[in-house]
Amino acid sequence: MKIRYFDHAATTAVAEEVKDEMLPYFTENYGNASALYDLGKKSKEAINISRGRVARAINAKPNEIYFTSCGTESDNLILKGIAKAYRNKGNHIITSKIEHPAILNSCRSLEKEGVRVTYLNVDKNGFVDLRELEKAINKDTILISIMMANNEIGTIEPVQEIAEIAHINNVIFHTDAVQAIGNIKIDVKKLGIDAISMSAHKFYGPKGVGVLYVDENINFVPIQNGGHQEDDKRAGTENVAGIVGLGKAIEIANQGIEEYNNKLLNLRNYFLERIRVIPYTKINGDLDKRLSGNINISFLGVDNRDIMKELNKKGICVSAGSACSSGFIRTSHVLSAIGLSEGIARGTIRITFGRENTKEDIDYLVDILEETIKKLRIQN
Ligand code: PLP
Repeated sequence: MKIRYFDHAATTAVAEEVKDEMLPYFTENYGNASALYDLGKKSKEAINISRGRVARAINAKPNEIYFTSCGTESDNLILKGIAKAYRNKGNHIITSKIEHPAILNSCRSLEKEGVRVTYLNVDKNGFVDLRELEKAINKDTILISIMMANNEIGTIEPVQEIAEIAHINNVIFHTDAVQAIGNIKIDVKKLGIDAISMSAHKFYGPKGVGVLYVDENINFVPIQNGGHQEDDKRAGTENVAGIVGLGKAIEIANQGIEEYNNKLLNLRNYFLERIRVIPYTKINGDLDKRLSGNINISFLGVDNRDIMKELNKKGICVSAGSACSSGFIRTSHVLSAIGLSEGIARGTIRITFGRENTKEDIDYLVDILEETIKKLRIQN
């Protein structure tokens, strides 16, 4: 059966060109990047080429780029690293209620160590309220961490305005851009962002490799003890093939970002047009300031696990929420935060389009959805 994949916010397939660049680093250029002989130097060089590619993609400097093992690690490293480095300045962090668990659980862990955390509310479309943010800042605030784009409803937060508010108040601004990178052009200097978390597998790179940008004037303490890799900020032998893949993937993504967005927008509009055949649906999140490939839709009177079971039988991959909460029968914290009732949230799925999707795929998806929802509503 042909697989129709609509879960690009969960992960993406590695692009052919990315895989081709990675392959030699598994079997030929396998040297440890810390070794002093040529085989090791080849790995070191490859890492630095990747560092340059990431830096160029977001208008940063190569010395501001740190490779990690995933987006989750990048989030942990920056939150815990800044909390430690700036402890003498203050112990208050501001974030939002709709962040990824990598941020929320890092904050909860910091709270246990005496850090105070404010979790900002969001409105019905998932936007943080800038006035609430301003009011939350106090003399102890050291960091604001607000995601660039939400992984469930695709809402794009006003990061430039948030960065301005942070800087007026002498506070560091970090954004989790794991969903945004590859979809939104990011210029750290123009946007005024001090730190960014990213992850390769969301933009057609490999799994198990992430990256953290941190402005060179900002200090952070490593959370992992070991060797001197990554300028003493992230100990551990580097995942050279993964880093090479990440560098290639970010370069490709950045070069084609406009075309990619236009394609995804066309697919999304086509879906929205076609899905009208199904009554009693609700699209969640903002339709303008939203990731182009994201649809978050509630089907009233049905359970999303039943929908997914039926779609799976037909080779269709969608998500019941974010990747990290799939499998759990728990109302998504994002859908709760935008005020969705438990009943409506229960019938909600996330559809995220990507490079390989076509209009014909969407026709198939909508036809199966129509049939499935009709059947499930009769059964209920
Ligand atoms: N942050 C956001 C917004 C995400 O969507 C994800 C993954 O879904 C992560 C962080 C974690 O990234 P990783 O899967 O690389 O650990």
